[in-house]
Amino acid sequence: MNKIVKEAKEIDKEYNTFITLNESLEKGKPIVIKDNICTKGIKTTAGSKILENYIPVFDATVIEKLKSKGFSILGKTVQDAFGFGSFSTNCAYKTPKNPFDKERVCGGSSGGTAAFIKLSKNVKYGLGQSTGGSINCPSAFCGVVGLTPTYGLVSRYGLIDYANSFDRIGPITKNVKDAAYLLSIMAGEDKRDQTTQNKAENYTKYCGSNVKGMKIGLIKEAFSNDVQKEVKSSVLTAIKKFKKLNCKVEEVSFPSLKYVVPVYYILAMAEASTNLAKYCGLRYGKEKKIEGFYDSYFSDVRSENFGKEEKRRILLGTFIRMVGYRDDYYIKALKLRNKIISDFKKLFKKFDVLVTPTMPLLPPKFSEIKNLSPAEIYSMDFLTIPASLVGAPSMSIPVGEVKGLPVGMQLIANYFEEGKLIKLGDAYEKK
Ligand code: GLN
Repeated sequence: MNKIVKEAKEIDKEYNTFITLNESLEKGKPIVIKDNICTKGIKTTAGSKILENYIPVFDATVIEKLKSKGFSILGKTVQDAFGFGSFSTNCAYKTPKNPFDKERVCGGSSGGTAAFIKLSKNVKYGLGQSTGGSINCPSAFCGVVGLTPTYGLVSRYGLIDYANSFDRIGPITKNVKDAAYLLSIMAGEDKRDQTTQNKAENYTKYCGSNVKGMKIGLIKEAFSNDVQKEVKSSVLTAIKKFKKLNCKVEEVSFPSLKYVVPVYYILAMAEASTNLAKYCGLRYGKEKKIEGFYDSYFSDVRSENFGKEEKRRILLGTFIRMVGYRDDYYIKALKLRNKIISDFKKLFKKFDVLVTPTMPLLPPKFSEIKNLSPAEIYSMDFLTIPASLVGAPSMSIPVGEVKGLPVGMQLIANYFEEGKLIKLGDAYEKK
């Protein structure tokens, strides 16, 4: 057996990283792909039982592009079903374990990719997908680099939707340069995704450049008491390095941070509930023998194959969009999203990059989150959600370890300024 496949099998056995492993890996640069990105001839489940038997007959645009540059797919990684989660514990098949401590979570929802990239000696490239933080969060928890590009820079064609106005595909890698390389291949306009723009660059050219004079805004509210002390101090220490690199660091207030979690979850669930409507046992996803009334057929298929979190989001999302509630929830959240976007744009008149911790906590133990309510879990996304609501690019880079666990620092830039993230991230790594 190929040594790359052999290693992947061993890691998978111990850490639960793959839903599908491609044992007939061809020659080329090996890459692992989150399981909600369509791969021709390789099962693509979006982490849900309802797509257990789905084998796409086409490649997502990003996969086409990567294959044309000599990449070959080693496997499809474990994720929260449809991306619904912050810890990779809403998984229909198996639950990935943290590379630093198997009793801890990997972060979600792209947990399988992040864990595998950390653990593998042979594979340095992975793809994740983010709606509200699912690239940055697992990257922080697993000690790797995650880059969430500007909405519209990378085609979503062939991505199984969670929430269309948020979803983004991005690299998860061991270092900033590899992320820049993957992004350079994937970025660019795609006629099959009309939200894409022709803004692609060669991002690797930003590695090794001088960051002197760059203006960095430290978001004050992101270092509040809602963030664990150890996380705060690691990120603040990391920020000192930027000062040594002659960047200008200044504190700045972002008061609308307190609204981001409810606004995001209202909008994301509204979109998710419409996206999941198509899995009703007829054209998409699992089927069974059609008997009785259609209504009971639909609900049987959906009850049997959706997990708890999928059902919760369908119910809440449908409620949010219903006549009578729509104005109070959905429309109001849309207005607030616009307000948050304009607040952000103001900050970017003054700063090149904003900085926060990626997650407010160290990767928790499975036992520690078992009894948390969904709302408590959702609230932990308050640092990755801002850039997700805005559609701005962001990146998580590892900034050392506390108690043997990794801490991630998040950098956020203005639209299509991935170059600045890469510049700073790479300079940080090298210092
Ligand atoms: N934790 C967030 C959610 O559950 C974000 C997940 C994601 O980015 N896919 O919606």
